[in-house]
Amino acid sequence: MIVANEKANQAVTKRHNARLVLRTIYDHEPISRAEIARLTNLTATTVSTVISDLMGEGIVAEVGSVSTDRGKPPTLVGFQRDARHLLALNLAQSVFRGGIFNLRGELLHQDCVAAGGLQGEAALESVLGLVDGLMNHVSRPLLGIGIGAPGLIDVGPGVVSRAVNLRWYDLPLAQRLNDRYGLPIHLVNDNQASLLAEHLFGHYRNLADLVVIRVGRGIGAGILVNGEPLYHPGAGEIGHVTVVEGGERCSCGNQGCLETVASSRAIVERAQRLLSGHPHSRLAVLAAERGELDIQAVIAAWAAGDSFLDPIVEDVGRYLGIAIAHVVGILGSTRILLCGSVTGFGSPLLQRIRAEVERRSYTAQLQRPAIDLVSLENDIILLGATALLLKHEMGLF
Ligand SMILES: [Zn+2]
Repeated sequence: MIVANEKANQAVTKRHNARLVLRTIYDHEPISRAEIARLTNLTATTVSTVISDLMGEGIVAEVGSVSTDRGKPPTLVGFQRDARHLLALNLAQSVFRGGIFNLRGELLHQDCVAAGGLQGEAALESVLGLVDGLMNHVSRPLLGIGIGAPGLIDVGPGVVSRAVNLRWYDLPLAQRLNDRYGLPIHLVNDNQASLLAEHLFGHYRNLADLVVIRVGRGIGAGILVNGEPLYHPGAGEIGHVTVVEGGERCSCGNQGCLETVASSRAIVERAQRLLSGHPHSRLAVLAAERGELDIQAVIAAWAAGDSFLDPIVEDVGRYLGIAIAHVVGILGSTRILLCGSVTGFGSPLLQRIRAEVERRSYTAQLQRPAIDLVSLENDIILLGATALLLKHEMGLF
């Protein structure tokens, strides 16, 4: 028994060392073995052994040498970004998107399929069709499939507990995909995916504490504490906290949730109601051109000077500020980044949110939290699904 335990401990240590060395190469390449040993506090022998293993797997390679004043120039090793491919999915919007990425999160190929109105098994079939198509563009060993999904996710077993729009309830999505493709499958929700993207690839990468809040059709937060994302079921669901007593009925069954006043749908509906009083506005022109209003049209009309929309931006900022003040009260003045379609209102919205948070939170008065927009553009959920695979399959952060 003792022998078995010792062997298990050795395996854990070996795995830990391998991840430490790989992470150091990922962050500092090209780098010499001696420098890796210095940064990781591992012995030169351990570093050399780990590197030969990684070279055997094709993930690391020798990439030249540097000349020094004396002695034999040390050989540098580097990360082989194309040694593996990763398949990432964003299922959280009305169009399902998929991409093939390399180990540096560079997009190599992408595809999408309209999913508006698809539900249950039909929606799942559509996902499988998308993945089948993407598989044709994989030319390296595939690390796995990472997914940013909507709704409440049980991250451990990879189950979609509740995604109302897709009518997915307790769907074992990871198991279903694993049965078909025989690959590691990892899924988180769209908010958590956005957080992981910023944490691995964003401007504030490697911060130990970070909150990313999506404000779009839904509202929710991905939360990172001490370098680890919070995956408790329902963590970060700030969109379904009451901010208007006795307010409008919400999709969750409650009344006056943040989503009923600050989501893109709520904003568009309110703008629509104001429209009849402003028949010659920019918004009226855009509505006539497009046939129907969407959040982009509301933002464009407001940016073009439709000042009757000002109270909407004012109120959305105030309600988001109320919810974020609670986040700051619990987590302290951490860095908070916002993403999603509603953030198109830009810096006037941010200023309103910051003012409200500072007005309402003692913590924020002691130390002002940094509230900004995310640093990544393009499809942050897809990139987050890639980061998720790098975290769980490579131990890269
Ligand atoms: Zn709700």
